[in-house]
Amino acid sequence: MIRLARPFAAACFLALSLFSSGAQNPETERFPTLTPAAVRRHVYYLASDALGGRGTPSEGLDLAAEYISKAFKGIGLLPLDDGTYFQTAKGMTVRTRSGAVQADLHNVIGWIEGSDPVLKHEYVIVSAHYDHLGTFGEGEDPIYNGANDDASGVSGMIEIARALVAQSPRRSIVFIAFFGEERGLLGSRYYAEHPVFPLKQTVAMLNLEQIGRSDSTEGSQVRRVSLTGFDYSTVGSVLVEVAKEFGVEAYRHPRNSDAYFSRSDNAALANVGIPAHTLTVAFQYSDYHGVDDEPEKLDYENMALTCKVAAGTILRLANEDQRPAWNPDVPAARRYWEKWKELMERRPHPARS
Ligand SMILES: [Zn+2]
Repeated sequence: MIRLARPFAAACFLALSLFSSGAQNPETERFPTLTPAAVRRHVYYLASDALGGRGTPSEGLDLAAEYISKAFKGIGLLPLDDGTYFQTAKGMTVRTRSGAVQADLHNVIGWIEGSDPVLKHEYVIVSAHYDHLGTFGEGEDPIYNGANDDASGVSGMIEIARALVAQSPRRSIVFIAFFGEERGLLGSRYYAEHPVFPLKQTVAMLNLEQIGRSDSTEGSQVRRVSLTGFDYSTVGSVLVEVAKEFGVEAYRHPRNSDAYFSRSDNAALANVGIPAHTLTVAFQYSDYHGVDDEPEKLDYENMALTCKVAAGTILRLANEDQRPAWNPDVPAARRYWEKWKELMERRPHPARS
């Protein structure tokens, strides 16, 4: 760069700084706490051998729940009415490899109260499942660490929560780590049957799955993000716009966006009518449900960027006047739209105090 004489340089510097404050680079300037190191840290704990693959139920699963609740508290998320971050499903029967067992299981829930006096009674859910397959088999390493599936989603959710606490969203935002996804969406189904926040006032859900591996079986997914049920609701178009601001392409996968819609926790909420989707980077990757889904295989640089896109999308959903809505013109979305109409016809739930 050519050196400029001082007075002129000072004027230029002023002009430049005015310019740069008007035209921010979202990737570097928005959500500055959402860094690769921040998201990496949680994955290395949650997917460590010490947690034994977080089977439902297991001691490792409970350790993970404890870790997430402490993180929520540290960030300053609000607890539930009983002062804890646990929604407990008591004595739930779970079918495991060694037969049916009964256990107390926990969804971990923390929330940000909305800043708008009216809209704060509406809720956007951000979620990820904290269980995985556990430990089984005879091999040298029988631990299914589930780093990408779905320690990545949980880790991203924690750091998205930290980023959004500082943003005073207009609607309330509820963060949920679900148990038992791998055993058949147990935690999210339990939540849909025992909602902590009224379903009728829950305007959308963004579930995070497999956001750490950019090396999908279809090639590199760096700066690419997809959504299940991409065109089923207006959430997809919000994602496209926000992703663009970050130089990321949000795309509808020609086969998997529809095929995977019912295969994660978003389905439990979509089935009761809430526009609910799963955001993902790699639908399929080489270590999927294998013992080698380990933390060192994740692309933390791309994961942090993906989390920024997710955070921006959630913030838009929480701040826009209009609620997200199903697209009844898309045939596959019609049944969810019908469920939404049923939900709206239910008697209003008393507002939270
Ligand atoms: Zn998963």
